[in-house]
Amino acid sequence: MNLADLSAAAGLKAPIRHQLFINGRFVDAQSGQTLATLNPHDNSPIAEVAMAGHADVDLAVAAAQSALPRWSRMAAADRGRILLRLADLIEAHGEDLARLETLDTGHPLKDSRALDVPRTAACYRYFGGMADKFQGETIPVEAGFLNYTLREPVGVVGQVVPWNFPLMFTSWKMAPALAAGNTVVMKPAEITPLSALRIAELMAEAGMPDGVVNIVPGLGAVAGQYIAEHPGIAKVAFTGSTATGRRIVQASAGNLKKVQLELGGKGANIVFEDANLTAAVNGSAWAIFHNQGQACIAGSRLVLHERIAEAFLERFVALARSIRVGHPLDAATEMGPLTSLQHRDRVLSYVDVARTQGGELIAGGKTPSDPALAAGCYVEPTIVRAASWRDRVAQEEVFGPFVTVLTFKTDEEALAIANGTDYGLGSGLWTANLQRAHRFARELNAGMVWINSYKRVNPGSPFGGVGQSGYGREMGFDAMREYTQVKSVWVNVDAQIPPWYPR
Ligand code: NAP
Ligand code: MG
Repeated sequence: MNLADLSAAAGLKAPIRHQLFINGRFVDAQSGQTLATLNPHDNSPIAEVAMAGHADVDLAVAAAQSALPRWSRMAAADRGRILLRLADLIEAHGEDLARLETLDTGHPLKDSRALDVPRTAACYRYFGGMADKFQGETIPVEAGFLNYTLREPVGVVGQVVPWNFPLMFTSWKMAPALAAGNTVVMKPAEITPLSALRIAELMAEAGMPDGVVNIVPGLGAVAGQYIAEHPGIAKVAFTGSTATGRRIVQASAGNLKKVQLELGGKGANIVFEDANLTAAVNGSAWAIFHNQGQACIAGSRLVLHERIAEAFLERFVALARSIRVGHPLDAATEMGPLTSLQHRDRVLSYVDVARTQGGELIAGGKTPSDPALAAGCYVEPTIVRAASWRDRVAQEEVFGPFVTVLTFKTDEEALAIANGTDYGLGSGLWTANLQRAHRFARELNAGMVWINSYKRVNPGSPFGGVGQSGYGREMGFDAMREYTQVKSVWVNVDAQIPPWYPR
């Protein structure tokens, strides 16, 4: 069955393209090569997608370069209007987009509908509105001079995203870049390229000029690496693993690209003895099991005060066991498959990693027994207790429905455990003690802290990490700063300058 038929079977009304999107047109790769994309529910092929190589990236960069003068000089409000129209179109086609994202990634349809699609629309809308509100400054310098700053686009921006939230992450990257007047060459992950291509269609419908956005699905080691190296690209923005982030930095050195990195995490989710247990149990399950745990900000280290640890775990384990794992297109499903078989096996391998170091498996740790799910990438919600916070399961990002439990006695111990990794992305705590909450917010080594909540994101709120979790921020005014460069302009208004060389 071809993609259009499969899409129809999944209830998709719009035809889905499976070519590259370059200079406003869908085109095959120069090499004619394609990549199969699979349905993670049963690993059946759902599409053949053109695979970009160097020649295609060159064409995309050339298109983005020639579109840049017009796009960057367009009235900011007009750029914004196109993004606002796109947000409306995403909502109008929301159900189709949700199904497409679910088909490609395995996200439960319930989540694609309630989170991925609305958050994507919200992101384009926020930055559509931002386009004409982000401004330079006037600086009070010495008498007689006017000094002001211009916030200019960086130029052609290369963007590379992973497979865990393909629809949302393309919006987090493209919306601010476009609002600021840059043009874009975007490489989605090879296993989840479909929603980015659909967005390209909707962008064209929203009135995006040709060449402003180019989508080049392909292999990371080929197309991704080449984007990071390309001398015609002024900035590379990357979301993915820390190891690939390092390669991007090295590849970017040739033309000293501006680099923005959103990398891995090992979020500490701390539950104190005075926490509201009902809220903490629910919030902690969401923190790790939403999106099958495939989230950089997942609360993957559950750090419990020893006085409430047993009571907490009793409820937490019962809740984890009750999560409905199933076909992602079934609207009742709460946890779908992971996004690839290779990744499923990697996640499951951590059960042995835990055992080898004296860890205890408390729940899950295997594929579900339901034969209907046997061909898919499913993993049961998995809970392990680690012997030490230094163990591998308490240090390495598993990126699945796999949570590592640790316990503590004092606030100092909780803080040491939480800060005891090289990562520093998201962290959370559950407590009724106001002073402790704010002290931890200050002391936690993280780009984001959630108090009596977890994993909140909003297009206005800066998102990013410290340490091995990367640098730079997405969202909000910070994202606009990342996607612009500042120019300082000096004007002699009526300055009396003494002659430097009196004659
Ligand atoms: P990954 O292997 O680093 O891949 C991410 C993207 O980079 C993919 O598009 C990949 O292409 C591409 N890529 C691979 N090698 C490349 C190279 N040498 N040069 C340029 N691009 C290259 O990451 P992943 O395992 O797919 O994704 C999961 C990781 O992303 C986790 O570590 C997670 O924490 C992180 N993440 C971070 C954030 C954040 O905001 N901090 C958000 C979500 C995820 P292919 O598709 O061909 O591999
Ligand atoms: Mg897929």
